[in-house]
Amino acid sequence: MRLYSTLSRRLEELPAPPGPIRMYFCGPTVYQRAHIGNARPFLLGMWLRNWLRHRGYEVTLVHNITDVDDKILAAPGPSAEVAARATEWYLQDIGDFKLGLPDALPKATETVPQIVSFIERLVEGGHAYAVEGDVYFRVVRDPEYGRLSGQRPDQVEEQEPNPLKEDPRDFALWKSNKPGEDLAWDSPWGRGRPGWHIECSVMAEEELGQEFEIHGGGLDLVFPHHENELAQSSALGHRFAHIWTHNGMLEFGGEKMSKSLGNDVSIRNVLDTWGREVALLFFMTAHWRKPIDFTDATLEQAKAQWQSFSQAIYENKPARPTVGWEAFEAALDDDFNTPEALAVLHEWRRASELELLNRGLGIFGLGFVPDTPPEEVQALARERAEARAQSNWQRSDELREEIAALGWVVQDGADGWTLVPT
Ligand SMILES: [Zn+2]
Repeated sequence: MRLYSTLSRRLEELPAPPGPIRMYFCGPTVYQRAHIGNARPFLLGMWLRNWLRHRGYEVTLVHNITDVDDKILAAPGPSAEVAARATEWYLQDIGDFKLGLPDALPKATETVPQIVSFIERLVEGGHAYAVEGDVYFRVVRDPEYGRLSGQRPDQVEEQEPNPLKEDPRDFALWKSNKPGEDLAWDSPWGRGRPGWHIECSVMAEEELGQEFEIHGGGLDLVFPHHENELAQSSALGHRFAHIWTHNGMLEFGGEKMSKSLGNDVSIRNVLDTWGREVALLFFMTAHWRKPIDFTDATLEQAKAQWQSFSQAIYENKPARPTVGWEAFEAALDDDFNTPEALAVLHEWRRASELELLNRGLGIFGLGFVPDTPPEEVQALARERAEARAQSNWQRSDELREEIAALGWVVQDGADGWTLVPT
């Protein structure tokens, strides 16, 4: 199994099963309903976990909740309540993909003592310094700074401008409490709160250890977030993550507003409007490293693909020989290529290899056992078949509509009819 790593800029071979494979995927900052773009790293993490477990690995997936941040402090209402409510929304929303949950969902606010002690060690080692209640990481002490984002240390752009810093490149580990900010903890540098980057270094190491296999997140996190996580942990001599997986971003195809979603592109609205199957299938259509076009047209295409799978499973035709499971494995073992895997699923659909199709869909949370249509619906379908046999097309059409009103579509084929849910 190989995965592309941003750090080495090449495909990296995973250790042989059972591993372990320890994974940390950056989670959301919780201040509002999560954007559909937040679903991509979550789904990639969960699908990878499924696939690696299927391949015989012991896998742990950690997905953090950033519940202290500028955006939370700026949101109206008490910050702790804003974060608690948005955390609950996020857990509901990702839960509704019905893929289960990550093995651990640590919260930054529940890790503050460990964060303070991590910063103390950085200060003791000369990797960080305090100024007026803030603590900054001393970038000049890290000769390899920029290794993840591919920047030369002397050309790194300025972060968090503050004239009190020794160096414009230095970034905050601890931020002093400002008037009006209602989230703060005591520390050796006074009351304040942790910076975003240090939270992830500490939560990852608390859950997975000083060294682990995979660190994931959106491509927008490479710099400064992940560059800084790596610098902080490396400063204490920790190897930190071996492979860095960065998923491509959602693009909106130049559409100002989606017809189906309006301007609410939250996970919630996408699930409510399109359903979990279409949303999951949509994310499978692009390779995880590539951007993905999120428009009504691409969602419609995903819906059509999902309906074609569902229909094949309901039709339950006799199978004909085609490619085996190893074709699916080859696609996913090679940098988790979901578009290739999707092509194999369609091959199985065309060949009515339904057991393989359902097993493959199951890796992505899409496998299912077809429902038996209720007796009432079956009786209407039989009546319709009789009407057709007597060329009574008007009655046949009426019955089709009655069947549709009960939530089923009747499809005619060479060997009779099939009922498929709408
Ligand atoms: Zn993070």
